[in-house]
Amino acid sequence: QRLVGAEEEPDEQTIESALRPKALGDFVGQPRVRQQLSLVLEASKLRGRSADHILLSGPPGLGKTTLAMIVAEEMGAPLRISSGPAIQHSGDLAAILSSLTPGEVLFLDEIHRMSRPAEEMLYMAMEDFRVDIVVGKGAGATSIPLELPPFTLVAATTRAGLLPGPLRDRFGFTGHLEFYDVAELELVLRRSAGLLDLPISTEGFTEIASRSRGTPRIANRLLRRVRDWALVHDVGHIDARSCAAALDMYEVDARGLDRLDRSVLEALVHKFGGGPVGLSTLAIAVGEETETVETVAEPYLVREGLIGRTPRGRIALPAAWDHLGLAAPEG
Ligand code: ATP
Repeated sequence: QRLVGAEEEPDEQTIESALRPKALGDFVGQPRVRQQLSLVLEASKLRGRSADHILLSGPPGLGKTTLAMIVAEEMGAPLRISSGPAIQHSGDLAAILSSLTPGEVLFLDEIHRMSRPAEEMLYMAMEDFRVDIVVGKGAGATSIPLELPPFTLVAATTRAGLLPGPLRDRFGFTGHLEFYDVAELELVLRRSAGLLDLPISTEGFTEIASRSRGTPRIANRLLRRVRDWALVHDVGHIDARSCAAALDMYEVDARGLDRLDRSVLEALVHKFGGGPVGLSTLAIAVGEETETVETVAEPYLVREGLIGRTPRGRIALPAAWDHLGLAAPEG
């Protein structure tokens, strides 16, 4: 497991759920999505109806699940949670839909991974609050219409582009979550530190926030490592130096790169003179699978302007040399 991976770890759930904001007012950052969502919810409350279906897109760990929970909370409705990969047959979806209570919020994570037949059933359920259940096979098959109570679907996807147009069109509101800036992550951390009763200085928050890769889930995870470090070292008031020492120990550097990220950068700079070099060659040089380098390390390195993708392969950008404390070659 990576300390700076944006995916949720299994043992993380208990403490994470304690840190999850419960109301829109406590949700930090994402001002536009928050404002738009607040309007959607307010209007449907005034109308006394369940809210329009909501699609949330964006990279992992930015707060999609949290927002779905907030929608249910603000609407005073129960929440049902499932995910695309868990719904492989349309029957799986029918079972969920037919057991919803009026006004219930259904959260479907990773909706882009749902099977095609289930997706088609979902179209009809979203639009007409009705599904056709097919019983029997072949010539004897019949379809039985089933009325559903009004519900609100909140769907999350890391890849909005992968959703078929007809599905995307059935959402009344689509919110795209962006990476958080350091100031916003400081607020997330400040709130979490308050809940965990951790005395951290302002500079300490900045230190952790700068290493959190724009992602609240990572920020909270790094905060917990700093908390462990402070406990073991018996540090009462946690300042920036303590935060840096703790995170250095876990090999999360000042820019949030971990050992894998750094070894990719170092290989690119030291072994290939900055590239261009093909991805698979680069992966062999760091002793990793090509896919790991491509999906785990590369997106953040590209986003940070440390490496670039060219038709001839990966190249190190000047910031890569800078980050490794080296002078970039001329030109
Ligand atoms: P995934 O799609 O990987 O499940 P996600 O986008 O649904 O990720 P969440 O599980 O909602 O992410 O958020 C991860 C954690 O980050 C939450 O437990 C919560 O504590 C924290 N968090 C996320 N967004 C915010 C925010 N805006 N303010 C405060 N805390 C946040």
